[in-house]
Amino acid sequence: MGSLARSPFQDPVVRIAAMAGTLLAIVLAVVLAVRLGLGEPRACAVCGEAIGREEAYAEPEYDDVYHASHAQMLRCDYCGRIVSEFSTGGPGVWKLDGRRMCASCHHVAVVDWDEGKKIAAAMRGRLAQLGLKLPNEVQLSLVDEVTLKRLFEKSHVKDGMIEGLTQQTRFSDGREELEVFVLSGLPRARCEWVVAHELTHAWNYALHTPVHAPRLEEGAAELVAMKIMAGRTNPAAKRLVARALENETPIYGDGLRKAAQYEQAHGFNQLVRLLKASKDF
Ligand SMILES: [Zn+2]
Ligand SMILES: [Zn+2]
Ligand SMILES: [Zn+2]
Repeated sequence: MGSLARSPFQDPVVRIAAMAGTLLAIVLAVVLAVRLGLGEPRACAVCGEAIGREEAYAEPEYDDVYHASHAQMLRCDYCGRIVSEFSTGGPGVWKLDGRRMCASCHHVAVVDWDEGKKIAAAMRGRLAQLGLKLPNEVQLSLVDEVTLKRLFEKSHVKDGMIEGLTQQTRFSDGREELEVFVLSGLPRARCEWVVAHELTHAWNYALHTPVHAPRLEEGAAELVAMKIMAGRTNPAAKRLVARALENETPIYGDGLRKAAQYEQAHGFNQLVRLLKASKDF
């Protein structure tokens, strides 16, 4: 009797290899499907429940998707995300002036003097790169809301959020002091923004130039902060840039847009020259 030709699949080694190959192909297909979003529905960023594509509401900066029914929920005034246990890690913190901060922003809040000093040094370096070289003796203090509000009441600018202030004191012996006050407890990226903004004022005050129209003064300070943040890819920085550009107040918002237009037309160095000399755009 001649031997029967065996199909290769009857060979146990070949069969196991074929099964392993099939299994691998299935695993790869599932991985690919999940990566392409074809697998399990995504979890809602707010309640954690599964979410269908048709009812999803996207938050592209954070790669968040949530049920459209949550869209009216309270949001963090800093990162813009809906405040919930699941999305931002717990209840928000309310500030004296009514602003809300979510738990994840609160988690990166700058309250420590050493951290404030490091941020000031870094922002000072960034300003110098932009051609705004500060004198050495600018002091930075982190202050509470009540103190900042009291200092702010003496200031000439009354719109925008009270998060920072620069004060120049002239003594009778001719000495002068520049002090930057920044609200303690701001999320890190916002703290950096406010420090950059205030240091721009400090640089300008140190030059003893005439006082500019508030729109130029504030608009240029916002532009400097925005230029520093614009190169960053983290969501908090992107959100700050978007928020500043959408700001509808006449001094900060219009001032920033006007300063940005001026930079586009004449270059940043020309804006710096304007700050050193002129009264307005
Ligand atoms: Zn939900
Ligand atoms: Zn937040
Ligand atoms: Zn300002």
